[in-house]
Amino acid sequence: MSTPSGSALREVYRIDWLPGTDILHGTCHCGAEHTDQDPVEMWEWMLAHPEGHQPRGTVS
Ligand SMILES: [Zn+2]
Repeated sequence: MSTPSGSALREVYRIDWLPGTDILHGTCHCGAEHTDQDPVEMWEWMLAHPEGHQPRGTVS
């Protein structure tokens, strides 16, 4: 009994809580990183992709 589709979404976005702080650190599937104290704001940033996203290695 396995659900192959279940693991795919986990790799799209990654959000970590920085130990000892109220800071959330998120990494988008495009490589952009973002920190925020508000989980809602973090998800809004995630869902706003590609607006406000600057993947590493991209110089504008
Ligand atoms: Zn992105």
